[in-house]
Amino acid sequence: MKYNWKNRVSANKNSSPGSACSYKQASRPSDAFKFLLCADLTLRHHRRNSNFKMSPPSENFYTCWRARLGPTNLLHDENDLPTERLLQAVWLHQRLKRDQLRTADGKNVRVFHPGFASTEGGPDFYGAVIQIGDDPPRSGDVEIDLRASGWHAHGHDRNPNFQNVLLHVVWDDARPVARALPLLSLSRVLDAPLSELGLWLESESPGSFPRNLRGKCCTALSGLDDTQLAGLLREVASVRFQNKTAHFRTRARHVGWERSLWEGLFRALGYKHNAWPMQNLAELHPRWACGADSVFDWQARLLGVSGLLPLELSRAQPAQDGYLRRIWDRWWRERDEFHDCILPRAAWKFHGLRPANHPQRRLALAAHWLAAGDTIQQLERWCATDLPDARLLDSLRQILEVRRDEFWSGHWTLRSARSSKTLPLLGGARVTDLAVNAVLPWLWTRVVEGKNQKLQRVLERRYFAWPPAQENSVLRLARQRLLGPGRNHLCRSAAVQQGLMQIARDFCGRANALCEPCRFTELASAWRMQAATQPPPLRTGCS
Ligand code: SF4
Repeated sequence: MKYNWKNRVSANKNSSPGSACSYKQASRPSDAFKFLLCADLTLRHHRRNSNFKMSPPSENFYTCWRARLGPTNLLHDENDLPTERLLQAVWLHQRLKRDQLRTADGKNVRVFHPGFASTEGGPDFYGAVIQIGDDPPRSGDVEIDLRASGWHAHGHDRNPNFQNVLLHVVWDDARPVARALPLLSLSRVLDAPLSELGLWLESESPGSFPRNLRGKCCTALSGLDDTQLAGLLREVASVRFQNKTAHFRTRARHVGWERSLWEGLFRALGYKHNAWPMQNLAELHPRWACGADSVFDWQARLLGVSGLLPLELSRAQPAQDGYLRRIWDRWWRERDEFHDCILPRAAWKFHGLRPANHPQRRLALAAHWLAAGDTIQQLERWCATDLPDARLLDSLRQILEVRRDEFWSGHWTLRSARSSKTLPLLGGARVTDLAVNAVLPWLWTRVVEGKNQKLQRVLERRYFAWPPAQENSVLRLARQRLLGPGRNHLCRSAAVQQGLMQIARDFCGRANALCEPCRFTELASAWRMQAATQPPPLRTGCS
């Protein structure tokens, strides 16, 4: 018998109520899986003798153990509720009866776009496009909780990051607890039993980006071959590099070369959460740049001026308190002198920040560079040294990294307990951030101003040859939306990553999740036409 859907349905109807093939009985993961395996998927004739013995599916060792111990069991909590992770996957992939979605007060819900999963705290999804009742479709955030009471219990009602939530999605049927916040319950609108969704979650890798959430430009970009696409991304990367160099040129005109570099380095140390307070601190460089000698002096000054020193000792951790007490003793003596520079603590963001990226730690690192006294000269020598591409990252890391710090090699922050491992103050990923955001554009601007074309080419080559940075959430989303799967090999350079981030900023950042009114697809098609009629450029420099 040839397999077709009708045969499967009729076979299923005719099966006895107790049969393992009955869909109704497929309430446990193992049963749901058996149903799939029981379908007659092969031609009956042409049986071959085989030396391999296949266990019937119901006795398959792995299936049984997977159902007992495997990941699907982790999809329920102790009250047999689905986990939030499963609900998030259901929402992202819209495994819902989408024409039956209604808020708790009976309004229809149309989901034009579920939004993008947030990895950095705040609501679970941002940028969703949703229509509720007769209101026009709106763009906003979606928060997912098991219970409606989670809104207050998790403090979302007091958290300003949740102000843009337009739909609270929950599992149960409770009434909304936040006044005027529409509530959607999923328990009755799943498109498949929970057990089946659990299996799907683990087998189909729903953490992957759903095809229908890719950007409109993805199809046009998939029409470019690797050379054409890489060429386009390198052009965009050049534009991004040029933007950075223009900024350094302007700042150098106003504050001089040295200060413009410190501003760039500090900004890069702030990463995306704290770039502004770091920049602010660097702009005050002339005020705080004299009179400190040792690394410890610099750390006390930077931590003091930043406003990041805890006001009280913990009294429970003598190791931390000893260092903090000495820092305070040092800072206390000069605090009045710098009182006009001290940043308010509210200027810093700590939410969603990994300890390795804590600004206290970044300032402790900057103190080493300031104490060395010749960091800028070392960078200039690095620029003029002949280096193979494979040594770029390590050679810069040797200049910027710190071998050992009395306190910070053992603590993530001023408050954290001593680690048994040695904690690096600077990792390879941050070296790349510093290179593409500060060191390379600053050096390039200098050599261009000095009309040194040879070094200009050297620095351009280094930019395009620099190994990739650690992927962040912006980059990951841009890669998934623009390129889809199967083209990750093109992202093996920091410059291509920079190109993707620039497109995300120029186009995705000005469009909604449905890509309205983005015109990047036109640009990609025009690039394809041009690439088909012109030979690839010989030089891919930045100027
Ligand atoms: S907004 Fe534009 S660039 Fe971004 S994914 Fe959509 S079509 Fe592509």
